[in-house]
Amino acid sequence: MRRAEAGAHGEFWRCQREADSRYSGVPVKIARTASRARQLCRGAKRPLVLVPTMGALHAGHASLMRRARKLAGRSGTVAVSIFVNPAQFGPGEDFSRYPRSFGEDCRLCREAGVDLVFHPSAEETYPAGYSTYVEEERVSRGLCGRSRPGHFRGVCTVVLKLFNVATPDAAVFGEKDYQQVAVLRRMARDLNVPVRIIAAPTVREPDGLALSSRNRYLAPEERARAPVIRRALLLARKAIYEKPEDLAALVRREIAAAHPSKIDYVEVLDAETLEAPGPATRELVIACAVFFGKTRLIDNIRRKPLA
Ligand code: AMP
Repeated sequence: MRRAEAGAHGEFWRCQREADSRYSGVPVKIARTASRARQLCRGAKRPLVLVPTMGALHAGHASLMRRARKLAGRSGTVAVSIFVNPAQFGPGEDFSRYPRSFGEDCRLCREAGVDLVFHPSAEETYPAGYSTYVEEERVSRGLCGRSRPGHFRGVCTVVLKLFNVATPDAAVFGEKDYQQVAVLRRMARDLNVPVRIIAAPTVREPDGLALSSRNRYLAPEERARAPVIRRALLLARKAIYEKPEDLAALVRREIAAAHPSKIDYVEVLDAETLEAPGPATRELVIACAVFFGKTRLIDNIRRKPLA
């Protein structure tokens, strides 16, 4: 690692020293360029399991890393990427204020037994003149894809780039971002990427709120109201209705009673296709996005098809 690569990131050097000193057991190797990451991944013991993240890591991310470790076994390799991907944020979204805590993140990775952290720069990832993007055209159409145009194009692009650099045997994603997993599965299938896409369960606060790096934006009174999302979804899992619209209306009513700033969407879809449920539907997903203040929270739940 050349000093120039680290730039002014004192945090990075502190983390690197800690990693090198091996004081907590497992050393974490840190790659800040694609070529270094590729070199480390080439030499890594297989299977190699990748956990892509945007950093500001929390217990939800840690559970993905533990899942990755189980998949990789003791002798395989767990790699985590930490990259706040500008291509997946729309204009006016929170890219510039998205929390960044690389030193803390490295600590969490080390404690979770991660072998390799890939922390590329935006400049290297999207150099001047960059003009190639990956677009999934079906699964990404509704839900977050509708409210955040270009979001999944950015996600697919960066994840395919990560797959090309790390060549993982498997990659672990959280079910909290249900549509993201579905879109990436489709992308990997359609583009013949030889990687297993694994979905891991959502980790929650004791009151049911799904952990998210964005929860720290919530004002205390918004934080107090936000668990209504989980309560509404749990209610919908038990409700006896015949029509998806009625189920969606129930969730809307419950959430609206907690006075969010806006309900972006509540939708009931086929959990496999993310299209309108039909007679062949084996499982439903109820997915929602809700604003408390300026903070957009998403969550989902799965249930049996309606009566
Ligand atoms: P992010 O850093 O928000 O891009 O998330 C990186 C990965 O962690 C994604 O696959 C997310 O779905 C997953 N993730 C985020 N929050 C949670 C959570 N509460 N439980 C489990 N996985 C999560």
